[in-house]
Amino acid sequence: MKTLYAPGRIGALEIKNRMVMAPMVDGFGIGGVPSERSLEYFRVRAAGGIGLIVVGNVHVDPEHRHLKPEFHLYEDSFTEKLKPLTEVIHKEGARVFAQLIHQGRYARSSEYEGRVQAVAPSAVFTGMTRETPRELTREEILKLEDNFAQAAGRALKAGFDGVELCANSGYLFGQFLSPLTNKREDSYGGDLESRTLFLTETIRKVKKAVGDKMPVTVRMGGNDFVSGSNTNADACQIACLLEKAGADAISVTGGWHESRVPQVTMDLPHGVFGYLGKNIKQQVKIPVMMGNRMDIFAAERLIEQGDADFAVFGRPILADPEFPRKAAQGRYDAIRPCIGCNQGCLDHSMSGKAIACLGNAECGREYELKDREGLLPTQVRTENPKKLLVIGAGAAGMEFARVAAMQGHKVTIWEKEETYGGQLRLACAPPAREDFKYLADYLYKACVRLGVKFCFNRQASAGELLRQLGEGEADKLVIATGACPAAPPIPSEAGMVTVQAWDVLAGRAETGKEIVVVGGGAVGIETAILMGEEGTLTPKALRFLMLYRAEDPDTLYSLLNRGSKKVTVVEMQDKAGRDIGKTTRWIMLDRLKKLGIPVHTGFIVTEIKKDRVIIQRGKERLELPADTVVLAAGSKPDDSLYEPLREKSSQVFIVGDAKTPGKVMDAIRSAYDLAASIGR
Ligand code: SF4
Repeated sequence: MKTLYAPGRIGALEIKNRMVMAPMVDGFGIGGVPSERSLEYFRVRAAGGIGLIVVGNVHVDPEHRHLKPEFHLYEDSFTEKLKPLTEVIHKEGARVFAQLIHQGRYARSSEYEGRVQAVAPSAVFTGMTRETPRELTREEILKLEDNFAQAAGRALKAGFDGVELCANSGYLFGQFLSPLTNKREDSYGGDLESRTLFLTETIRKVKKAVGDKMPVTVRMGGNDFVSGSNTNADACQIACLLEKAGADAISVTGGWHESRVPQVTMDLPHGVFGYLGKNIKQQVKIPVMMGNRMDIFAAERLIEQGDADFAVFGRPILADPEFPRKAAQGRYDAIRPCIGCNQGCLDHSMSGKAIACLGNAECGREYELKDREGLLPTQVRTENPKKLLVIGAGAAGMEFARVAAMQGHKVTIWEKEETYGGQLRLACAPPAREDFKYLADYLYKACVRLGVKFCFNRQASAGELLRQLGEGEADKLVIATGACPAAPPIPSEAGMVTVQAWDVLAGRAETGKEIVVVGGGAVGIETAILMGEEGTLTPKALRFLMLYRAEDPDTLYSLLNRGSKKVTVVEMQDKAGRDIGKTTRWIMLDRLKKLGIPVHTGFIVTEIKKDRVIIQRGKERLELPADTVVLAAGSKPDDSLYEPLREKSSQVFIVGDAKTPGKVMDAIRSAYDLAASIGR
């Protein structure tokens, strides 16, 4: 039986297992070359046991010199500068490919030296950049093909084991492939074979430049998921043309950045796009690599079933660089999950920031965090173990405990609820947000493995905690009590059922049939979706009705979106969901729309009557009939334990939302940093 952990081959190159790190924008390079930060970031990932690392975004076009801090191979001077990168990766036993890219119409002119206009097969406007690119001439196309070939030659000299051509997600090759963006009437436009010509000619030139010395692969969309663009059937045909042109493997992912089918968010089931690669694999003899919202279980299935030859992981290796080794050893519980939140990775890179990871506070900081011996705080054993008492088993409390326990401290957590997770339990309550639970489970199991003692249903008082310190039961106290929901001072008439969104999410509060949610931030929107989905078709019912074609697709679609409650959201700011990252916000707002949940933005709730809510925007006044009001008006730190203690002892610390309410990522990072500072 094929397994993910057995060696695989691409062309003549042997790779120690079937796990591949996807090309990603990280923002750690400086001036097109790897920084110390890049080197350590990749070294740590290579050391985690991955078979192949594809280094993303290596630019090839000297006419379009990217200002972003990614890697360049558009001229010879970069060859030597990229060598340290391939060396560190090889030293840790992994193979490394360079992904050669031209962004075409996906680049803004401001991203290029000298503000050069972006180029594309045809001058088709894109909402991604709000610019219209210039159409490439035939001579320029041939020149670009040469640029790719020359860059591949430099990659070989820099020590890369292979090159991958980026034809996925709607970048330049993808723009040539699509009838939506390729309107050319010369030999590079027209039918599918002609639209593939730029790519097939490039493959041939690249192969000529590198000979048999290294494999040449192509990453492509298995379906563009854009109406009128290439489907999976088209992708299968394209893959055959690429194989004929000499490609050594096809790496398949999902659709374009412009797709209205979510590609990267938490609501995608793990491995959902596996069928795209499976269909392509049935058409070609060369290896197929499959990625996109991959987790280890989906990857194992894919390889064992023979639906792909390699599994490509992007964000999972940000969340846990050691997951390949842990999985190979069967230590699945020890893998820190990527929860598809995008908070630290894609949302950062889309706003021009270096990437991070919500769950992994070390991601991208490996160089900054390591000590003189090259060890991270989690790898250093203390010579002076302390007894640490943590109050609160939410994300911050458990992350603090995990890191401190790894250092050898003796940690106990008191939690007033009957279980762990804190606000992570609320975050995972709305539909398609359950991955937050996996993070809570990971932290809990990691703590238990490390010997952290959990005391549930354990209330703490300031006096008792001081006694713990005074009697030497604890050397330090860490207050990680989280936040509590804010209650806005809205004049209210008796008779209206008014509850907190947190209580709805926790299943502690009943709501009626006509609900007004006060607050259109993440919590308000997620709670509105949770309530709006009540009464819609369940996944099991959908499967049954589809399987027997009991209803037509339009009826099923309508049943998926028609709940039994009437929900309305009121937000005082001019936009709802301001605290939700760019990659996820549009999906949440789209879900509200599909569920028929109106959002009144720019309105203030002026009064709650017994049967309606009065809202006002300037002179505009609306009355919203309601039987329940759900408050989602932000949170405030729960520092009631910390305040009486901090004056009395220097051994009391506060962390996470209890200090400053923020995102889960902030809580985890502050907890990691506090534990790291307690350190030795
Ligand atoms: Fe995954 Fe979220 Fe980390 Fe990105 S930030 S790698 S989506 S857990």
